[in-house]
Amino acid sequence: MTDAKPQFRIGNGYDIHRLVPDRPLIIGGVKLKHPAGLGLEGHSDADVLAHAITDALLGALALGDIGKYFPPEDPRWKGADSLILLKNVVDLIKKNGWGITNVDAVIIAERPKMKPYINQMRSNMADKMRIELDLVSVKATTNECLGPEGREEGISSHAVALLHRL
Ligand SMILES: [Zn+2]
Repeated sequence: MTDAKPQFRIGNGYDIHRLVPDRPLIIGGVKLKHPAGLGLEGHSDADVLAHAITDALLGALALGDIGKYFPPEDPRWKGADSLILLKNVVDLIKKNGWGITNVDAVIIAERPKMKPYINQMRSNMADKMRIELDLVSVKATTNECLGPEGREEGISSHAVALLHRL
């Protein structure tokens, strides 16, 4: 029998933020305009896609979740740019001896239409992860007016990440 260490690790991440007035709507590092003037509530910039991806990366190495590294009660992360949080976690992944093979994510939102911004989101995420654009998939779907996303109470995101040993 071989005792070779596994060469791949997989992780999944999930996040949801409330839609509220007087907040920016930032998803995947892109500032969007909600037709009803709503944005995402949160201690940081509430970038739900960046948070789901960050959690997927941490999950792949069983390193906990985003709240462990960037606790909401810590004033340092108030209004924080979530792309910086993502970059910090990518550095941590590398330090542990792992590279990012690919990431696949989905955003669940009734409005606004994400399609025009998907490539910019992919590019922002790929830049921070220092990987090629074609290794980052971002998809969007409505929730067919069902559930909290469908009632526009919030926007959620799911992500999976595969890592390879460096
Ligand atoms: Zn979040």
